[in-house]
Amino acid sequence: MSEVSPSVFEIAVLPGDGIGVEVTQSCVALLDAAQKQDRGPVLKLTTYDAGAQHYAKGGEALPARTLDAARNAHAVLFGAMGWPDVRYPDGTEPIPQLDLRMELDLYAGVRPIRWFAGLPQVLSNEKARAIDFVLVREQTEGLFYARGRGEVTDAGEAFDTMKISRPGTERVSRFAFELAQVRQKRRGKEARVTCVDKANVFTSMAFFREVFDSVAKQYSGVRSDHAYVDAMALTMVNKPWTLDVLVTENMFGDILSDLAAGLIGGMGMAPSADVGDEHGLFQPAHGTAPDIAGLDKANPGAMFLSGAMMLDWLADRHDQPDLARRARMIETALEMVLARGAIRPMEYGGTAGTKAMTEAVIAALPEAARQLIEV
Ligand code: ATP
Repeated sequence: MSEVSPSVFEIAVLPGDGIGVEVTQSCVALLDAAQKQDRGPVLKLTTYDAGAQHYAKGGEALPARTLDAARNAHAVLFGAMGWPDVRYPDGTEPIPQLDLRMELDLYAGVRPIRWFAGLPQVLSNEKARAIDFVLVREQTEGLFYARGRGEVTDAGEAFDTMKISRPGTERVSRFAFELAQVRQKRRGKEARVTCVDKANVFTSMAFFREVFDSVAKQYSGVRSDHAYVDAMALTMVNKPWTLDVLVTENMFGDILSDLAAGLIGGMGMAPSADVGDEHGLFQPAHGTAPDIAGLDKANPGAMFLSGAMMLDWLADRHDQPDLARRARMIETALEMVLARGAIRPMEYGGTAGTKAMTEAVIAALPEAARQLIEV
């Protein structure tokens, strides 16, 4: 990556399969429209093939050209990939997003969960309006290390191995503490990182906790604590407004992030970023949702928020405050549309499909831009 900040940012766009294609199309239209509202750097968005359906048509699930483009781009915008019944000859599914995490060393899966006006209030407690936490999921090892390595023995036993390394745990823990520091500045509240593990049962998890504790000592301004993963599942339902930043291994993070999305009404408003030291990939936390694919029913909100996370990441990395302002404009436009309630996504029982939601958020951009200037 060059030292001098570029004026054009190359973005590799990988729409993938199912609703991934629909929400990506919407997000590209929104990013283009937002760009026209300011004089900041230009994003050059180029689309590349990848995914289960590309594989089923005779291509590769992750063609070398696409991987190269992802590696050379300033950031990757990713829809969703995977499709029922599309399998490799050995029975496993093509899951290019997991390959990209390994290839680009995207070790931190960042999943923010925030309630805002217009989202369903799933929990009856009024305090649930204050839900605002981030789950950081380690993404290059943990139980997912077993992918492609599991074995079934002649004795009729199956084994999948969890890998927890010191460097892997140190870097994801540091990431979580640094994120907590940034949130502390923004929210003006005490920062806290919670290590989510099962240290009372597994050696690997006790080691994860020990390494986390050694990193915690380097961040004296941030509180740290621990929770067992089962207790955290309960806390997420009982009092999620008390959470700040959570860090956990790959599989626990996979499960808890769907639970967390459920707290704000479903997958349609849960963004995510897969971040490493050199690369960043931004995608909604949801999958391809074959049940609603191609029907204009998907909520593009999670994808919009992922696009905003991409702008923030680029802004920070290349010292481009205009891009951070553009991210706020997108978030504000989405918040305005949902809060006014005239447009309600089908996911929440309304009538607005993907296209209607996209048009409404794009139409709200100028007002969002004005509101940000006035603040
Ligand atoms: P994966 O196995 O990769 O998690 P999936 O398609 O089986 O993928 P998800 O995409 O996570 O599962 O979603 C589960 C269900 O939630 C979908 O079947 C769909 O009904 C709903 N859903 C997910 N994303 C959205 C969205 N953006 N808008 C509306 N509904 C959604």
